[in-house]
Amino acid sequence: MHKVMLITGASRGIGAATARLAAARGYALCINYRQRRDAAEQLVEEIEHQGGRAIAVAADVADERQVAELFATLDPEFGRLDVLVNNAGMLERQARLEEVDGARLLRVFGANVFGSFHCAREAIRRLSTRHGGRGGSIINLSSIAARLGAPNEYVDYAAAKAAIDAMTVGLAKELATEGIRVNAVRPGVIRTDIHASGGEPGRVERVAASVPMGRGGEAEEIANAILWLASDEASYTTGALLDVSGGR
Ligand code: NAP
Repeated sequence: MHKVMLITGASRGIGAATARLAAARGYALCINYRQRRDAAEQLVEEIEHQGGRAIAVAADVADERQVAELFATLDPEFGRLDVLVNNAGMLERQARLEEVDGARLLRVFGANVFGSFHCAREAIRRLSTRHGGRGGSIINLSSIAARLGAPNEYVDYAAAKAAIDAMTVGLAKELATEGIRVNAVRPGVIRTDIHASGGEPGRVERVAASVPMGRGGEAEEIANAILWLASDEASYTTGALLDVSGGR
């Protein structure tokens, strides 16, 4: 029986790279996305073409009801869940805080923080031995922005990722005797579309000079860390915040 991994925001970027690697390692996949159905379905086709199993399910993770529906779709399709990757995340145009209004804060904290909480809650109900589950693993996508603060770019996003760090540490302890490990990966500057949504498509090249390794990272390099945290090789690792940032 294949282990089942749910990856939120897996139509593109780090989520899609993680889905490809997970499929190659034998996981069956639930690929969540918000809007880009074309990209998600193309990824499902690609995985199936290589002999893997995947479904694509639309849901805005910020919306509690849509998250409940996402899990309700997954349950009969696979009959089990082993790993949740809380990857869905976003940022808005680079700005100083005095230009950031409440509506933006709701969007940024909604997708990055509330979304991870909604998905973790549904996963815990299925995975925890306390609820009759077999255990499993939750991996949260934080960011080194939580450590650096992202001044003049997106302090709101950095603060949202710091909330993810606290959630990771707290949940790891809360669930430690219930068979669930909870860890976070904190990527540095990684080549994906997210920088264009911040208004600076060339951000990776600009920031690369301040990275000790002298380059941005690739989505596959984050996927490798996520798959390790999900695996039995990480059986004694919980509550870890793993920086994958080229030394930054
Ligand atoms: P990306 O290329 O912009 O892709 C974002 C993905 O998340 C897409 O699949 C998008 O779906 C989905 N998504 C966005 N909001 C969502 C929502 N409310 N509900 C469900 N899905 C949603 O981003 P990425 O760079 O791969 O980032 C992945 C994660 O890594 C994020 O949590 C991000 O904060 C974190 N991260 C990235 C970097 C970096 O440099 N790239 C650095 C540190 C941390 P659609 O395709 O349908 O829009």
